[in-house]
Amino acid sequence: MTTASSSKDQLHDIVSCLSDYDPKAVPVSQAQDIIRQFVQPVNAIEKLAIRQALGRVLAAPVISGINVPAHDNSAMDGYALQGNDLPHQGHRTLSVIGTAYAGRAYQGTVNAGECVRIMTGAVMPDNCDTVIPQELTLQATELEVTIPSGKLRSGDNRRLKGEDLACGNVAISEGKVLKPADLGLLASLGIAEVAVHRRLRVAFFSTGDELRSLGETLDSGCVYDSNRYTIYGMLTRLGCDIVDMGVIKDDPDALEAAFRSAAENADAIITSGGVSVGAADYTKQIMGTLGDVAFWTIGMRPGRPMAFGKIRSNGKSAYLFGLPGNPVAVMVTFYFFARQALLHMMGATATEPLLVTAVSRTAIRKRPGRTEYQRGIATMNGQGQLEVHVTGSQGSGILRSMSEANCMIVLSHDQSDVMPDSLVQILLFEGLI
Ligand code: AMP
Ligand code: MG
Repeated sequence: MTTASSSKDQLHDIVSCLSDYDPKAVPVSQAQDIIRQFVQPVNAIEKLAIRQALGRVLAAPVISGINVPAHDNSAMDGYALQGNDLPHQGHRTLSVIGTAYAGRAYQGTVNAGECVRIMTGAVMPDNCDTVIPQELTLQATELEVTIPSGKLRSGDNRRLKGEDLACGNVAISEGKVLKPADLGLLASLGIAEVAVHRRLRVAFFSTGDELRSLGETLDSGCVYDSNRYTIYGMLTRLGCDIVDMGVIKDDPDALEAAFRSAAENADAIITSGGVSVGAADYTKQIMGTLGDVAFWTIGMRPGRPMAFGKIRSNGKSAYLFGLPGNPVAVMVTFYFFARQALLHMMGATATEPLLVTAVSRTAIRKRPGRTEYQRGIATMNGQGQLEVHVTGSQGSGILRSMSEANCMIVLSHDQSDVMPDSLVQILLFEGLI
């Protein structure tokens, strides 16, 4: 849609700095680096009410205009007193001179030998620095309370003014994808509106003469277009505005029109299919003529072929992710390349997926020299350890393996065979947008 300015405007400028760049053998980490350097954030910002900002990327830091909490207050239901009145031995009886409620402070002054009944969240009365919880008192009436020695120290059970957040400090940093806790934090600061990056507009289509859309007859040799649905799901979870362009036949005019329209109307284009090495179709050809596009064979499995770059039409441009056709390869390349790039375009600062370690219960064959992504099922064992086993067949067209899995096992570039009971890294799907 727009052309962001960049110090490295051409893919060529980036790859020429790499001594070991070979489009026919690109390690995963190198592809990720090139993409990271090439893709620029979209700058437009809008102001939104905080409810509408859930899942959006904060465009400016939020500074707290107040102390949270605003006053010292009680962390417990009990009695507020002066720490000096705590007995060193035996017990001591203090007179109860009033009550402090949350939202209704005790107004008087508390002297030595006195205390105030206090509720959780109530402002600490003047002179009081300690709260004895109700359940630690030895005896309590309306007028007196007896407190033991040795159960608490001066300052206990008091929340300090500004201890969550001090006035003038950064409450939430720019680039954060706003989560439920952030909405609550913003509300606690009295902030009703925030500046967020505008939504990213992502166009996508599937390519291939063999593809049939839902509702069409499945002719012999044809398959239903499933990639458009997984891509729809992943983009929607990521919070993008989507432009679903359907299935485009392997026809040069139709493909060119689709790419042009996408480049003119979207920030990014995601296609699937037609980028295999030696594929006799027009997708690669059209991608090549309309922009600055690299065709990679990536050192990974599944997902070897991928196109990446920028497509231009009538002065507009969009980043292109030409994902492979195989349904599992589409998801793997989306999660490990497109997802991070799209988050970066959305202005998000943390884009790396979080991998965790698990014990592999399965032996896995692995050839060094490529990154492999196996579909796995992770569970917590009786010892509280995360363990994982591989889901049945791992073919790159077997989408059921992905549907049954709850994680991907990521076997790094240099790793060799995995022995049963050794440690592997996994990416849990839960929480992955
Ligand atoms: P391609 O990269 O176009 O050669 O496609 C590789 C494999 O993925 C072929 O078996 C295609 O039929 C399959 N494929 C491509 N696109 C889709 C799609 N949108 N939905 C399901 N399968 C697809
Ligand atoms: Mg194809």
